[in-house]
Amino acid sequence: MNKLDAELSLGLLQEEGYKTVDTVEGADVILINTCSVRQHAEDKVYSHLGALKALKKKHPEVIVGVLGCMAQKDGESIFKRMPHVDLVCGTRMFSRLPELLLNIKNHGSHVLAIDEDHIVNVKRAVTYRPNFYQAFVTVIRGCDNFCSYCIVPYVRGREISRTIPDITQEVQALVSGGCKEITLLGQNINTYGKGLSGDITLGDLLSALNDLDGLERIRFVTSHPADMSRDLIRTMSRLEKVCKHLHMPAQSGSDRILSSMKRGYTAGYYRDLIAYARELMPHMSVASDFIVGFPGETDEDFRETVQLMEDIRFQNCFIFKYSPRTGTKAAELEDDVADEVKRARNMRLLELQKGISLEENRKMIGRMVEVLAEGTSKSDSNKLTGRTRQNHIVVFNGSRELVGKLVNVLIYEATDLTLHGTLA
Ligand code: SAH
Ligand code: SF4
Repeated sequence: MNKLDAELSLGLLQEEGYKTVDTVEGADVILINTCSVRQHAEDKVYSHLGALKALKKKHPEVIVGVLGCMAQKDGESIFKRMPHVDLVCGTRMFSRLPELLLNIKNHGSHVLAIDEDHIVNVKRAVTYRPNFYQAFVTVIRGCDNFCSYCIVPYVRGREISRTIPDITQEVQALVSGGCKEITLLGQNINTYGKGLSGDITLGDLLSALNDLDGLERIRFVTSHPADMSRDLIRTMSRLEKVCKHLHMPAQSGSDRILSSMKRGYTAGYYRDLIAYARELMPHMSVASDFIVGFPGETDEDFRETVQLMEDIRFQNCFIFKYSPRTGTKAAELEDDVADEVKRARNMRLLELQKGISLEENRKMIGRMVEVLAEGTSKSDSNKLTGRTRQNHIVVFNGSRELVGKLVNVLIYEATDLTLHGTLA
């Protein structure tokens, strides 16, 4: 979502005549789009901002701006901590970036734009895209879930769904420009449609998009187990363009912790949901997020998380050490799991997942897979990289003309992160 917000902001500015440059030193305007989901992300932003102080002293005319979640959350205090910052622009205001920048140019520094009532509505400039064959499309903004550890609902506000005609029109324009794969975005995408007239669901949106000629693949993130309906699983299995891949964070395998996290499901419920989905889509891959060291997490709670990971056999997992976020419910609980315990649990899950990923990936050896070629491989510039429908990363031989095309690749080797194959 942050990547897309950055892309849309850039599109807006390019329409106004701004151009991107390769180095910070060459820029008239420096904008940092931020995340505040964990303290670590915020620390990194403050460290980047600190590093810009000297440049700003030498070139006071350069505009430095902070965008997104941290801007929304910290507001005015960013100017106090980093007086060389000119602009603080929250999650709902970036559509007004051109006028905010003009304002700074004409009237000077310290412009604060964190209006909560403003509704984000950015007209997408299809021409300014990072690549022509893939696109993110926001379908629902905000989150109404209030998981006890999470800052997102506070910085991104309440859920607002876009209408199906609005989304279809945008996707149609992207497809006309050569787009083959779209990823629909929402913090809790399964509640898409809430608040729209006429009982609209994510299944309805997927069905409408599945009918678009020229579009090949549809992905959607992030699924919330409590809002993932069996009806949606059936729709997913039925629609050929919808990739059989689910990113559905479990967060923990302990019912006690899940309840304290206010996630609204049990580990058993999660298991049943995956079992049902796999019954309909045997090759479906599942990815998850886990938080370790949530307040009160005992060795036994953690053992249950390990068990869930072993049982489900995720394709990959993002594992985070719990980070208290001021203003959330969980921040009122004592952050009582020692950092070394958090670190050890984090390592244990990473190791476990690595082993599972390797075993699962090895099962792909000898299979032919369909890959959307995305570009040159970072590890070998003579090769291409891309993804399967199940979201495996594949490195294979092929020339750059294949980028943006769907190709068949025969897999001959696998690591925990990558499949290696030969172009068929
Ligand atoms: N809307 C998505 C993503 C939320 S943020 C979802 O519901 O899954 C992405 C991930 O960050 C979460 O899934 C969670 O695992 C992690 N996260 C959120 N708040 C956190 C916190 N306070 N400390 C550590 N990890 C956190
Ligand atoms: Fe945060 Fe929970 Fe909303 Fe995801 S569903 S954004 S974890 S509050």
